Amino acid sequence: MSRTTQNFIGGESVAATGTGVIEVVNPATEQVIGTISDSNAADVDAAARAAHDALPGWAATTAQRRGELIDALADALERRGEAITALVTEQNGTPISFSKYASDIVPVSAYRYFAGLAREFEAEVGYPSADGTTTLVRREPIGVAALIVPWNGPLALLSWKLGPALAAGCTVVIKPAPETSLDMVYLAEAVTEAGIPPGVVNIVTGGQETGAALVAHPLVRKIAFTGSTAAGRAIGRVAGEAFKSVTLELGGKSAAILLEDADIEAFTANLLSFILPISGQVCYSQTRILAARSRYEEVIAALSKAIDQYSVGDPFDPNTAFGPVSSVRQYEKVTSYLRRGIEEGAVVAHGGLVEKATGYYVQPTVFRDVDNSMSIAREEIFGPVLVVIPFDTEDEAVTIANDSDYGLAGSVFTADAERGLALARRVETGTIGVNRYNVVHDAPFGGVKGSGVGRELGPDSLDAYVTVKSIFV
Ligand code: NAD
Repeated sequence: MSRTTQNFIGGESVAATGTGVIEVVNPATEQVIGTISDSNAADVDAAARAAHDALPGWAATTAQRRGELIDALADALERRGEAITALVTEQNGTPISFSKYASDIVPVSAYRYFAGLAREFEAEVGYPSADGTTTLVRREPIGVAALIVPWNGPLALLSWKLGPALAAGCTVVIKPAPETSLDMVYLAEAVTEAGIPPGVVNIVTGGQETGAALVAHPLVRKIAFTGSTAAGRAIGRVAGEAFKSVTLELGGKSAAILLEDADIEAFTANLLSFILPISGQVCYSQTRILAARSRYEEVIAALSKAIDQYSVGDPFDPNTAFGPVSSVRQYEKVTSYLRRGIEEGAVVAHGGLVEKATGYYVQPTVFRDVDNSMSIAREEIFGPVLVVIPFDTEDEAVTIANDSDYGLAGSVFTADAERGLALARRVETGTIGVNRYNVVHDAPFGGVKGSGVGRELGPDSLDAYVTVKSIFV
């Protein structure tokens, strides 16, 4: 069945004004499953104006009431969970178990978390000054927020933005990734069903130019972006010129450090949760594995064994662990790194290039004899490719971990938790785990260096969507 979706502006489903169309391809079958509009600057303008018109009413709605409506949105999305899960799987090829987690369980629980923050939100707090006067510190919504998301965990990553934006009183224009826009029909339905007023949430579909038009739109005062470092840099430049507030959640090349006393089986048990989730197409994938030289062979053998436990195949099969990568663009990028790794002198310990059949499938691959200066160790491959680098001392492990353009995630595995914690403190990163890693709603998430600016999630998440005014009374 070929599907299509329209823009959602001012509470209505609206056809885009231009004729540009983007095909949505199922990466497992390579079949076109639908089309979306490649919205132009006029469409973006209509959405930004609708959001701007709705801003005074939404900002004046009590935070308590906003929280109730965000809860209602969670309920409406939960009712559509199965349909969303299936459609996201079809669009980006993520195994259905992950789609269920990232497009149903995570967003629904995230909206409930942000609804709770809305209920606790205090817009005005009075602070007594030493001279006997009072300063009223008022947190006002920043204004219209542009929410731009990638395809890998589209609804989870959107919820981390839409939840706090709505809670803080901002109105929004969403620009989903072209690969995963068809499911926006369900979001638009859920927004309406929840009773969120028209114009508070608007959606325009399209590619890079649509996103760029949104970022540059003069009515947009806040940009919350998740995506590649290159796009984040371009957005940061435009936003900086116009003094727009930005949150940038970008790429990663995170290091997992296995000290000589690490429980290697305990580490490899996390293959699908944070080492290679959805074929390594998650920003916090820990694909740069730093192994104590004395355990190097064991680590490579354990990773290969762990990969062999799982199957590569149809993302709709509940037993599939590795589906296809999301698009022909990703397939070409990942396979080019498989060739480059060998050219650079690394050795394939497991997996490697296989002849292409139908679907954008890549075998999970482990490279050994990797040096941190190789491109496969420095660049974000965003595919099922692990590089294993040996180290001799703890200091060397920290140096290699920090010798990266990125700093998003990481982990340290050791039998000595105190030692692990001390080492974790020395790694330049936004998030890191000791003998584990996971992202939770109540802890801030984000990166340093090329992994981005600002934080999402956590009790202070609304701060990214407010501007603070001091009134001296
Ligand atoms: P991408 O940067 O190509 O696109 C992301 C979104 O931005 C899409 O909606 C795209 O249309 C839009 N876009 C692209 N260029 C733009 C521009 N100049 N102005 C405005 N919008 C623009 O990324 P992708 O390939 O869709 O996603 C993969 C990337 O996302 C990886 O680098 C990954 O690490 C990153 N990511 C980061 C996080 C995080 O939280 N740090 C989470 C998931 C994914």
